[in-house]
Amino acid sequence: MEEHVRICHFRNHYELTRKNLMVKNLKRYRKFLERESGRLEAAKCDFFPRTFELPSEYHLFVEEFKRTPGSTWIMKPVARSQGKGIFLFRKLKDIMDWKKDGTRSEEQRDETQVESYVAQRYIENPYLISGRKFDLRVYILVSSYIPLKAWLYRDGFARFSSTRFSLNSIDDQYVHLTNVAVQKTAPDYDPEKGCKWEIQKLRRYLTAKHGSETVESLFKEIDNIFVRSLQSVQKVIINDKHCFELYGYDILLDQDLKPWLIEVNASPSLTASSQEDYEMKCRLLEDTLHIVDMEGRLTGREKRVGGFDLMWNDGPVYRDDVNLETLGLSCFSANTHLGCINDREKQLRQLLKPFPGQKKT
Ligand code: ADP
Repeated sequence: MEEHVRICHFRNHYELTRKNLMVKNLKRYRKFLERESGRLEAAKCDFFPRTFELPSEYHLFVEEFKRTPGSTWIMKPVARSQGKGIFLFRKLKDIMDWKKDGTRSEEQRDETQVESYVAQRYIENPYLISGRKFDLRVYILVSSYIPLKAWLYRDGFARFSSTRFSLNSIDDQYVHLTNVAVQKTAPDYDPEKGCKWEIQKLRRYLTAKHGSETVESLFKEIDNIFVRSLQSVQKVIINDKHCFELYGYDILLDQDLKPWLIEVNASPSLTASSQEDYEMKCRLLEDTLHIVDMEGRLTGREKRVGGFDLMWNDGPVYRDDVNLETLGLSCFSANTHLGCINDREKQLRQLLKPFPGQKKT
């Protein structure tokens, strides 16, 4: 690639963005942490629901299934998106097609190969607002894997399902899948209202309900998910200075306000479902391109570019306003502002000087 070329993916991005590989990498990383730093550290990776790949891990899955009688599971094709091919189940007979049959030869098995799926514990107690389930879409930009340099976007949104949550109707995708692609086909979907809340509104709602301390600690836990998941693939992804990646993270909250990582998307939807959504996505793209910086306007030492805050730069990044003299190490505040005000224009005006010879407009 020529020096000036930039590509919006790392070559093997699927290590994080395919459902089975993401879990494989997280499990391996958790084992590594346990070996190197002990159980407490490894427990910081306990943010993804128990997951098995089918058919390859069918027997392991059945053991777990039997250990937790009556629980609900969700089946998801490993490489599809927008809720396609997903279903919930509580009985083994519903997934007979993925049964690993030891009596068949390799050849016979190839003939009847089924698409790879993951079977995952269904989060049965999602946090509800007005009785409805939702998940969060958050944007992370990785501008380098070695060293790891990751940016968190201030804006994002919560995607609500249109039908009240209940565990009685596990076949109703309008209750259980929060994908916009699914919800907008619901009979009572109102395109004017849509099914999204901007993340600032969600943060305000949660703060009013639970207090700022609880919400701060929830968002800290969400930051931990971003950093650990990226670290889990840091040594696997083929780094290249020409590449960058804008990830769309899907996070689900349960009733105990524990955040769960559902999946990471390599090409998050940039389709807008409302004017507000359109404007947010334009801001997001513009700021992504500011960080990619084809024009060479940045110094490389910036901690903030528009709506993006640098959250990891080969180590945690702290806010400037923290007085290092008076605070102990554990008091450092992370440089993340998910769901906070995005006053990007003012910041960009200060940051991006006009090109030489360019008139100020
Ligand atoms: P897709 O790539 O098809 O969007 P996801 O893994 O994002 O697949 O799942 C689609 C939706 O299903 C999620 O947005 C979420 O609402 C719901 N979902 C997925 N996994 C779980 C789970 N383990 N527990 C509860 N809900 C889930």
